[in-house]
Amino acid sequence: MAVRFGGLGTGHRPRGRGRGGFGHSLGRRGSLKTRLVIAAVLVVVAVGGYLLNTSTNPYTGQQQRTGGVPIEQEIAMGLQAAPQMAQQFGGRSSNVAGQDLLERVGQKLLRAVPQVYPGIETIDDIPHRFSFTLLDDDQTVNAFALPGGPTFITDALFDQLTEGQVAGVMGHEIVHVIQSHGLERMAKQNLLQGIAGAATTAAGDMSAGQVTQMVGNFLQMSYGREDELECDREGLLLMVKAGYDPRSMIEVMKVLEKASGGRGAPEWASTHPDPGNRQQALAEQIKQMFPDGVPAGLVP
Ligand SMILES: [Zn+2]
Repeated sequence: MAVRFGGLGTGHRPRGRGRGGFGHSLGRRGSLKTRLVIAAVLVVVAVGGYLLNTSTNPYTGQQQRTGGVPIEQEIAMGLQAAPQMAQQFGGRSSNVAGQDLLERVGQKLLRAVPQVYPGIETIDDIPHRFSFTLLDDDQTVNAFALPGGPTFITDALFDQLTEGQVAGVMGHEIVHVIQSHGLERMAKQNLLQGIAGAATTAAGDMSAGQVTQMVGNFLQMSYGREDELECDREGLLLMVKAGYDPRSMIEVMKVLEKASGGRGAPEWASTHPDPGNRQQALAEQIKQMFPDGVPAGLVP
């Protein structure tokens, strides 16, 4: 399943739309009462499945709603989707020096993981399989992560960034993986489909696709915002522990802001918090981390 998540910049494609074909609406056959009873059961099953299928995040120790997918399967999903996703952005970049730098930054960030997450003692405890790939696309400003560890950044974004800014972007993407945001989103999608199926049953004639889209658009939007802010927050911790200047991430936001003035803007705005707010949240966090000012010697 090619679940992509965690894009940082422009070039987002709409997710999960027009996928609403639930073949079996009970339609006009059942009485209203029967339809409502069946709908109620469907809702209970969908919500119950969503709430009960939790797992413990190995990094944070917190419970998360991942639909009960084991980590091996999460890794397999990402590995399976990775070549196809890379191909959509021109495949692996021919910029060898850039790829080397990206790899070095990625490894530094991974070595910082035990300092940020209590469940990980050494780098060898990291259960996901991370990889860092520079993509050949010099038009689309984007970075993203796949479930289980593959992370990507396009030439178009990479070429505009300093090393510390690359660390900011990749720290953000690493947190998408650490927090299993892809699995959480899939579990939520399953819940929505269950509820949409129930609504169709109850309504008799409203198309399932209509209901999914209605509920989905709203939920996905707020969900994405939360995820992005979480990644900004924890990504900042990772980059500082790895020796990078956290203010670089604010500069990344400015680069993204500029890029979103182009064609990608409306799509980007629908799934990402306003860059202005993210900048403000980052600035406040940096002030909390270093009340006396950011120490000298961090890599910008
Ligand atoms: Zn993101």
